[in-house]
Amino acid sequence: GRSPDGRTWWRYEERHPIPTYTMVIGAGPLTMSRHRPVVSGGDTIPIEVWAEPEDSAFADSVPFRRATEIVETLQRLVGPFPYEKLAHVESSTRYGGMENSSAIFYAERGYVARRMGEGVVRHETAHQWFGDAVTERDFHHLWLSEGFATYFDLVVGAALDGDSVLARGMPRLARSYEQSGVVDRPVLDTTVTRLTDLLDANSYQKGAWVLHMLRGVVGDSAFFTGIRDYYRTYRDSSVLSADFERVMERASEQRLGWFFDEWLRQPGYPQLDVAWHAARGGRVVTLDVRQAQPEAWGRYAMPVVPVAFLRGGAVVARRAFALLPRAAPQRVTFTLKAAPDSVAVDPGGTLLLTARVTP
Ligand SMILES: [Zn+2]
Repeated sequence: GRSPDGRTWWRYEERHPIPTYTMVIGAGPLTMSRHRPVVSGGDTIPIEVWAEPEDSAFADSVPFRRATEIVETLQRLVGPFPYEKLAHVESSTRYGGMENSSAIFYAERGYVARRMGEGVVRHETAHQWFGDAVTERDFHHLWLSEGFATYFDLVVGAALDGDSVLARGMPRLARSYEQSGVVDRPVLDTTVTRLTDLLDANSYQKGAWVLHMLRGVVGDSAFFTGIRDYYRTYRDSSVLSADFERVMERASEQRLGWFFDEWLRQPGYPQLDVAWHAARGGRVVTLDVRQAQPEAWGRYAMPVVPVAFLRGGAVVARRAFALLPRAAPQRVTFTLKAAPDSVAVDPGGTLLLTARVTP
């Protein structure tokens, strides 16, 4: 409207509850382009890209080229987009992106340098569901926001461009977590008092791995059923890790306390020392597996640890064993059809672990 002294005023109304840390108002001489809207049930969700005029063509054609498809993919995997519209806004933020509800802000430096990619868009868009619509009630449970956004960046990338996005992305997350300074602390670390310290490799990279390994334990079908139930149940409200755990137990019809305890409450990850030897013409292979990680990290259970047996670099057999949560070495024996000359533990990189294999 207009006031008598010639000022213009706007009144904003938000129908959904949103967390205070994702409330934002932006004003600036920006260009807006409308991308193809998303249909959600009976609603049409406008998808807008706001950028400095000189950055607008770049924004539309590079990082936000598939802004609509990203939302459509998340709707298919998780549930309806939570808000009335989605605006992607060139801005200044101390982070690469800030997942404000329905108006995501991105740091302008990526636009200016023309080096902004789609990954940050997938990450921040996933936050609209995880972090914004379903919010961690206590910041110590930040992995429910950042771990989910980090993982769904890759899951959406894989849905759009193929499995290799996930297959290449997860090991990258593992290496950066393993090299971080927080491996001696658990994901749920209530001793942290400076809350911005929680924006670390435990919340992001390890959080993503918690989801990836959970998916491995319960299977794709139960995992995505659980993810959809979790979103439907807690949309527009706040949660703790136990709420997610309960939903996943129901979806998978199995107890998962052991899984969440070791991956959220224990620090670190398994560092396996595997000594192998062969008998009877090399076809009976024994692995002596020891969990060699620091005592303070505790021991881990893993129901399925894949093993590949190779000869001359070619796989002659694939097997798996269940890792038992104990300090004493564990012996597993396999009878193969051909004698291997080397052994690879988790060759596909499906688990957050390291393995040193010696004959
Ligand atoms: Zn994030």
